[in-house]
Amino acid sequence: MVDPNCIFCKIVAGAVPSFKLYENAETLAFMDINPVHDGHCLVIPKAHFATVFDIAPEAFAAVARTTAVIATAVNAALKPDGMNLIQANGTGAAQSVGHFHIHVLPRQLGDNLLINWAPRPGDMTQIGEVAARIRAHF
Ligand code: AMP
Repeated sequence: MVDPNCIFCKIVAGAVPSFKLYENAETLAFMDINPVHDGHCLVIPKAHFATVFDIAPEAFAAVARTTAVIATAVNAALKPDGMNLIQANGTGAAQSVGHFHIHVLPRQLGDNLLINWAPRPGDMTQIGEVAARIRAHF
């Protein structure tokens, strides 16, 4: 299942670059290029499913397993004050990319983050450096 117009399917195919953290047969983890905080990254199924209402249960389970691995590595690498796992479905939930994904989102005390945050472009050099720090914890 591939959607040729989907940016995350293009990342899976290697047609669009990403700061890849980890992959296995079913899932891929990579850095978000508009990070709320350092270490903000995404875990996706390699197959295209738009939302939680579409994803196959075994794909959801595979994403959950990878998410636990990634969250642990981000936590070890960056030692944030806390971490949210966030997953949006539909425009009313502020889903902006229609390929199922879980945000691994480190938090800082007092950041007062609203769940529907406004994306701000990140510093690609810094994102790459943070990705290397996380990969060191697998
Ligand atoms: P959502 O708004 O919950 O659908 O989250 C989609 C996320 O994908 C946003 O946080 C974007 O910053 C992120 N994003 C969009 N395009 C890319 C890309 N090419 N590489 C990495 N992250 C991306």
